[in-house]
Amino acid sequence: MKLELSTPVSVISRVGKNIASRLKRLGIETVYDLIFYYPFRWEDLSKIYKIADLRAGELVTIKGQLQIIKSRRSPVKKKLLTEGLVADPTGSIKVIWFNQPFLTKVLNPGDELYLSGKVAFDRYTLQLVNPVYEKAKKQETTHTARLVPIYPLTENLTQKQIRFLIKESLPAVSLVADFLPAVIIEDFDLIDLSTALKQIHFPRNQKSLAQAVKRLKFNELFLFQLQVLMSKIEHDSSRAELIKFYEVQTKEFVDQLPFKLTNDQRRAGWAIISDLQKTKPMNRLLEGEVGSGKTVVAVIALLNVFLNNQQSVLMAPTEILAAQHYKNISNLFRGVDLKIALLTRSQALINGQASTKKRILNQIKSGAIQVVIGTHALIQEKIEFNNLALAIIDEQHRFGVSQRRLLKEKSGNPQTVPHLLSMTATPIPRSLALALYGDLDLSVIRELPKERKKIVTKVVEPSGRLAVYQFIREQIQAGRQAFVICPLIDPSDKLGVKAVTQEYDRLKKDIFPDLEIGMLHGKLKPAVKEEIMADFLARKSDILVATSVVEVGVDVANASIMLIEGAERFGLAQLHQFRGRVGRSLHQSYCFLFTENENEKTKARLQALVTAKDGFELAEYDLKFRGPGEIYGIRQSGWLDFRIAQLTDYQIIGETKKAAEIVISSSPDLKKYPALRQKTEQFIQSIHWE
Ligand code: ADP
Ligand code: MG
Repeated sequence: MKLELSTPVSVISRVGKNIASRLKRLGIETVYDLIFYYPFRWEDLSKIYKIADLRAGELVTIKGQLQIIKSRRSPVKKKLLTEGLVADPTGSIKVIWFNQPFLTKVLNPGDELYLSGKVAFDRYTLQLVNPVYEKAKKQETTHTARLVPIYPLTENLTQKQIRFLIKESLPAVSLVADFLPAVIIEDFDLIDLSTALKQIHFPRNQKSLAQAVKRLKFNELFLFQLQVLMSKIEHDSSRAELIKFYEVQTKEFVDQLPFKLTNDQRRAGWAIISDLQKTKPMNRLLEGEVGSGKTVVAVIALLNVFLNNQQSVLMAPTEILAAQHYKNISNLFRGVDLKIALLTRSQALINGQASTKKRILNQIKSGAIQVVIGTHALIQEKIEFNNLALAIIDEQHRFGVSQRRLLKEKSGNPQTVPHLLSMTATPIPRSLALALYGDLDLSVIRELPKERKKIVTKVVEPSGRLAVYQFIREQIQAGRQAFVICPLIDPSDKLGVKAVTQEYDRLKKDIFPDLEIGMLHGKLKPAVKEEIMADFLARKSDILVATSVVEVGVDVANASIMLIEGAERFGLAQLHQFRGRVGRSLHQSYCFLFTENENEKTKARLQALVTAKDGFELAEYDLKFRGPGEIYGIRQSGWLDFRIAQLTDYQIIGETKKAAEIVISSSPDLKKYPALRQKTEQFIQSIHWE
């Protein structure tokens, strides 16, 4: 049968309804999806050991002839055992499999086999326990005697199954169009795409694996850099409204604030005001950890845009966050006579008063409302502005070309584009931000407002667990609330469902049966997540158990405890982010880092959270000391969504940046490279709103 890239997996032999639905859970529906489902590691089983050389504890592959095979029930546990004897010219070894009754049907004495598995001691002799087997008569092995791919999986799907399916689909790689221009492939010494796709799954050797990895990382980073460059060119060639600085009014406004601005806030505010005074559109990222006071800096920009008789919009990732911004910003604007609206799926307010969506949309169109706050989905709606000059984007890291175009279309002024200010609490080291987005201007608030209480941070070993639970109970009795964050248990649990459910059950049953516990994981629908968060915010639950994949971005002032399970699995910067969710009120707050890892290095690394000055110091630390291959906190926070590239691939980042420049300078509209042009359009469209 001839496979097309769009052929559904169900067409492949051995794929029934069940397997198809399990594959779907992994996002695999077509042959194309299988081809692009990369392994996350490769087990090197390529060396064939002589039986005489085997030693206990090693993971080995042997090649030998099956002499005997038979099954029996173990006398004690009634388990089914299949035992065999395998010989090569140097000797023989006993092999044992558990609960695989079909083995005596598929394997016969006389068969030449490859067996890969762990060598163990059984009283007097060595034996292979539960080895992966493969008949040696086939030309090319799949599961043994080679670099064997290991895939992230879901329940009830085995490595053998997915390898089989991917192998079946690989003939179709020749149909994948190579979108990289030939000149780039040549200049950067890359292998062709179909070879790379074959080798990433079933590499001949370490060298061809490395070439495949490089080529596929290059693909992703190149498309990303191309998009950055194109959006920079579009941005640079656009004009924005010049926003005059109203110095007197701004000073008055700052003077009446209930606090004094920190130096970093002043500096950031000033940089933004300078940007706004140009007709070149602002493209600035304001970084500052949770609680550093980014909002008031944003408000200074909003104020000046308002004084210029222009409109602004602020977009947050969730309804709850939008509502919180609305409350805080309205508060800060108390003495200013402007109209500010909140517009989300379930809320419509003008200056704190309930209104209707329709009325708000009308008043945005007429210009009567000067500041609009909503979720990121806002600009996909029927909204039309009168004269939008500034867009502030909170925690949305993939604001690409298509979103900018949409904003421009809706701004009410086709001649100009809105100035852009992005805000994030992720402490991205400057070096990293510049490597990724060369053109972006950066303002960083490092200094926290003074009177904030330090969060007591403790690294807790297993023996300290019960005491901490007791302490949490006392805090909850005193009226506080707690977060519990769980790491992903295994790569198959991408959405954290298993991790959180297990922890939730354990806490509910064994530890806090009398308390109300909420649960958040990646599989819940956005509306359900928001409801659970809202319940926690309203103190309807005492403890919120969540995965790391769920951004717990809400300000719950009453929460005073952050407990993190398996803390060693996280980057320091990310742990710091979690910690930032507490300590937001006058209550003394606590962060407990649970670790089962006895390793001194691990403990020392976690201890940095007790000593480091701020999140930026920790992020730099992460960048330096965690090897590539480790997941960086930024990745989870949605900065980038690569399958194989890493943010620490500095060399390839640099190369792809050059490659993007070469391509654009030879063909600014990509007309010369039709395949690339098409791919880029797909790529831009795939950058969805969350
Ligand atoms: P974030 O950077 O997380 O968005 P916010 O802007 O919400 O932080 O500020 C957190 C809190 O700190 C708010 O209650 C705000 O009023 C307060 N705040 C901001 N700047 C200062 C300051 N310079 N001094 C004291 N408190 C401040
Ligand atoms: Mg904020």
